[in-house]
Amino acid sequence: MNYLVLSDHYPFLSLKLKMTITTRFAPSPTGLLHIGGIRTALFSWLFARHHNGKFILRIEDTDRARSTDAAVQVILDGMAWLGLEYDAGPFYQTERAERYNEVIAQLLEAGHVYRCNCAKERVEQIRNAALSRGDKPRYDGHCRSLKVTDTNAVIRFKTPVHGQTIIDDQVQGKVIFENSELDDLIIARADGSPTYNLTVVVDDMDMAITDVIRGDDHLNNTPRQIHIFNALGANPPNYAHIPMILNPEGKKLSKRDGASGVLAYRDQGYLPAAVLNYLVRLGWSYGDQEIFSIADMIAAFDTKGINKSAASINPEKLLWLNRHYLKNAENKTLAKPLADLLQNLGINLNNGPDLIDLIDVQKHRTETLRDMAEQSVFFYNDFETYDEHAAKKHLRPVILTALQALQGALQQLQDWNNNNIKRAIEETAAQLEIKTGRLAQPLRVAVTGTSVSPSIDDTLRLLGQEKTLRRLHKGIALIELRCSS
Ligand code: GLU
Repeated sequence: MNYLVLSDHYPFLSLKLKMTITTRFAPSPTGLLHIGGIRTALFSWLFARHHNGKFILRIEDTDRARSTDAAVQVILDGMAWLGLEYDAGPFYQTERAERYNEVIAQLLEAGHVYRCNCAKERVEQIRNAALSRGDKPRYDGHCRSLKVTDTNAVIRFKTPVHGQTIIDDQVQGKVIFENSELDDLIIARADGSPTYNLTVVVDDMDMAITDVIRGDDHLNNTPRQIHIFNALGANPPNYAHIPMILNPEGKKLSKRDGASGVLAYRDQGYLPAAVLNYLVRLGWSYGDQEIFSIADMIAAFDTKGINKSAASINPEKLLWLNRHYLKNAENKTLAKPLADLLQNLGINLNNGPDLIDLIDVQKHRTETLRDMAEQSVFFYNDFETYDEHAAKKHLRPVILTALQALQGALQQLQDWNNNNIKRAIEETAAQLEIKTGRLAQPLRVAVTGTSVSPSIDDTLRLLGQEKTLRRLHKGIALIELRCSS
């Protein structure tokens, strides 16, 4: 629980006010938001929701050269797709330049920062000398006491020279930094633009962020940010630095491992619930529970359960979860995403079965919505060619009479439903004294072009009588041709 201790600011008050837990997700739109970024967003979102707090989206786009509109759009669309709704924002750092300038002026005025016009070559020389001694490269504070007034100079922060900065990290535990190891970082470039460590502190302060959950690549920035908070007379937030996500071989994620944009998961037919469940368990555990609904996650999430060591992706587990959520999804929630995927395949939805009927059958036998779409194309579009192996094996002269008899029986049906279809197949098979299975498979190949489809009665029902008869007719014609040649 986070408290603002008013007595720090007003000694006559010893009252503790409970603060609203507020977290933020602060991506830089310099690359497409990927699975690692989304997991950070999810943890921050869950922490806020668990504490009935607030979750803010902040786009850190001050690196104008590398930020792109497309990357911003992926952040917005990705969060919307996954249902990670924010209570405030999106805030764009590029729109807050005035505020950063105000804070820089305040820091200059109070003497916490100074202008530095050391030549690039000098800074470079110090750096190289330190590196050749095997030391960390640090600026030597040359301009600290020089009272440089040149407004084209960079502005550096006066980092405390002595003492330690101790971070009580919610994941990493106590992390101690010697202040003497940190140099006077640049908070504003020569053109006046603020740097990351300044903007992040100003924003976290102004947005009253109580808990920062972010990647552990930012751990080294944290003592610097705490110094800036102190200089501004503000309380730093709590920090939780989460380890990165690795590939199954324990190496850094690359595009090959699916570190592509988060929307690729949508296009591959994964469900938001499956992706969130997968991500929450990637580096966080709660006993040995694997399946978490959104409500379960919110109820159980705590930074204490975040693992200290890096987690590896596990594509099979994501598929397993997706199958689980697909099977248990309400049909109507799948209609829109399936329609989108079918349309991506060039399907005209008016040419086939009702989507809800289709989903009801297919969701039990496919792993992703994309599989479902691909395995449903034949319901809409006539196929050009038969699967060669299936046609050779099943569309043979021996079955011709049976298929012709079946065609007649199916034609007679007044009511095109599973029971009637099934009965027609069974009765035809019985009359000809063959097993139902021996008739069903040639029928399947004739109407779908392949030997794999839902149960034969579901397949025919979803195809509809007209399409079934038309395709059966074509299959029979093919066998007749074989007989005559
Ligand atoms: N913008 C930073 C990034 O995308 C995150 C900053 C932060 O969370 O403090 O890596």
